[in-house]
Amino acid sequence: MSIADNLLKYKKELEGEGVELIAVSKFNNATAVQEAYDAGQRIFGENIVQELVEKQETLPKDIQWHMIGHLQTNKVKYIAPFISLIQSVDSLKLLIEINKQALKNKRVIDCLLQIYIADEETKFGLDHAEAVELLMSEEYLAMENIRITGLMGIASNQASDKQTKDEFQELKVLFDGIKVSFFRKIDTFKELSMGMSGDYKLAIEEGSTMIRVGSSIFGTRKIKAPKA
Ligand SMILES: *Cc1c(COP(=O)(O)O)cnc(C)c1O
Repeated sequence: MSIADNLLKYKKELEGEGVELIAVSKFNNATAVQEAYDAGQRIFGENIVQELVEKQETLPKDIQWHMIGHLQTNKVKYIAPFISLIQSVDSLKLLIEINKQALKNKRVIDCLLQIYIADEETKFGLDHAEAVELLMSEEYLAMENIRITGLMGIASNQASDKQTKDEFQELKVLFDGIKVSFFRKIDTFKELSMGMSGDYKLAIEEGSTMIRVGSSIFGTRKIKAPKA
């Protein structure tokens, strides 16, 4: 199946679900992204800053780019002028830098807090207590150039359906709790980014609003992705 066919399949499947499809184009070249763009896709996810910047420079300017991989503080400045959503905020320090660079660019940058839900040592993210601590910090409360619009999580690799479901459920419960505690009257806090090629159906069942799909759109990546 071509990239366009794969996208069409997702488009049909997601119709009426209220779920946004993020096409994860990491390690795929600009030609592949352009092919998806020509098929109507406008939101793309990348996990390496340099690749993201190169693609942003060469591809159509109405693409919305999402950063979905671990972001080093010293690289925020390269994506701050154009990034549409940073899904991988995993520390207060990073959020402080995003706020600073957003101010420099006279923007407000939308962010998701990445929550650690997997049963693995390798995944980045905040645990529940850290997320709450961040949201209660004076530094966060003073920020004017970032907006937290939801949470993101990555389930364990090769887990059973039961475990994956449990992890997504855990994230949904946290999302609902944070919504009530910190964003009760704030409509823009509404995104729950969970689900990838292998587990997006379970994620949607558990309340995902945003799925991040790479290999089942673009084909299996030739280069192994670094652990996210
Ligand atoms: C690579 C990646 C995806 C997409 O994974 P696929 O299994 O190729 O769909 C989604 N989210 C994150 C954070 C990733 O790094």
